[in-house]
Amino acid sequence: MRIVLVGPPGAGKGTQAAFLAKNLSIPHISTGDLFRANISQNTELGRRAKAFMDAGDLVPDEITIGMAKDRMEQPDAVNGFLLDGFPRNVSQAEALDGMLEEAGMKLDAVLDLEVEEDEVVKRIAGRRICRNDSAHVFHVVYAAPKTPGVCDTCGGELYQREDDSEATVRNRLEVYHTQTEPIIDYYKAQGLLVTIPALGEVADVTQRAMDALKK
Ligand SMILES: [Zn+2]
Repeated sequence: MRIVLVGPPGAGKGTQAAFLAKNLSIPHISTGDLFRANISQNTELGRRAKAFMDAGDLVPDEITIGMAKDRMEQPDAVNGFLLDGFPRNVSQAEALDGMLEEAGMKLDAVLDLEVEEDEVVKRIAGRRICRNDSAHVFHVVYAAPKTPGVCDTCGGELYQREDDSEATVRNRLEVYHTQTEPIIDYYKAQGLLVTIPALGEVADVTQRAMDALKK
């Protein structure tokens, strides 16, 4: 099965991608992993990507597309793959279609993890992390510490990461809407879009996605 997974920040996309890939016995291909692998293996694409990143510039689409193509041609991807974080705009989606067509393949489904925006903001902005250990994570509503602002585990001070502030989360959602939502329309027009309600237990969401893929 060849699947693309899309969803806004806070939808649990990385977690779902890992579970779904395991259930379907296909590799989970994330752009983050592609960049790390190409840079650590010092490939030509990795060196080019790094030069842009070091300069603080966005990596051009053609480099990302090249990395994705190399990865999809590896032996473990012959029976399919699950793409996570790619494509992230319509021109990448078109490039992906072209690549697959050349190889005589096509996508089977595009899974869209759907969450209420206010719920995402509530989930992320309520997160509090311990200054002593970032693995000590609390939530002001869903996993409140016994004493507000104090870590239950070690007594450390709890704080909100800059990335988790409401303004930052709203900004990331805005960026997502502008860049990624057009690809949802693009795949909808191809009849590939499958919308999965992504709130609730992780295992329930995975099951919903598996059920939808069987249809
Ligand atoms: Zn702690």
